[in-house]
Amino acid sequence: MARYHDAKCRLCRREGMKLFLKGARCFTDKCAIERRNYPPGQHGLNRGKPTQFGIQLREKQKAKRIYGVVEGQFRRYFHEAEREKGVTGENLLKLLECRLDNVVYRLGFAASRRESRQMVAHGHYQVNGRKVSVPSFLVSVGDVVQLRTTSKLGARVDDNLNAGRGQVPQWLTLDPNERKGTVRSLPLREDIQIPVSEQLIVELYSK
Ligand code: SF4
Repeated sequence: MARYHDAKCRLCRREGMKLFLKGARCFTDKCAIERRNYPPGQHGLNRGKPTQFGIQLREKQKAKRIYGVVEGQFRRYFHEAEREKGVTGENLLKLLECRLDNVVYRLGFAASRRESRQMVAHGHYQVNGRKVSVPSFLVSVGDVVQLRTTSKLGARVDDNLNAGRGQVPQWLTLDPNERKGTVRSLPLREDIQIPVSEQLIVELYSK
């Protein structure tokens, strides 16, 4: 399935909440959720009561949209989560959280996951001293993620760090002077502050 390139704010409006897909704009009153908090489209205001399937589908779509992954990728994460020990829904969120583009965003180097994805894909980051340009790369405990010294994005990263839009989660440590972060531990469910009910996603895929 092709990656979604249309208006990002439509996705938030469809989910009825801020998904913080556009960086700085999301914190201003230009945010579409502040202005038009109803689903997009001609019949946006006239949608009926959602079915149980509809509710489960929306949770899955929300998670996909927050992390910026497409359906095929998301399903692969789900199968991987099923194979691992523990609760499948939590495993799924932990896998998504360990993506390199998400780690760069969580450390505050980028204003949105979209921006962090682009930074990673364009080869601006290294993991344990080696360049990694794959946004879906999964970090492990002890990994050190750093902006490469040859990168010209230093000023932009510093601006994002200074904006301090979110707290760095406990499972990561940040060294802003070195533009570097370390994975202290794998994330726990309580470290993942996203408005998604993972159990509904498991129910949807288990049909
Ligand atoms: Fe979503 Fe950000 Fe657009 Fe608001 S500005 S609707 S939070 S993407």
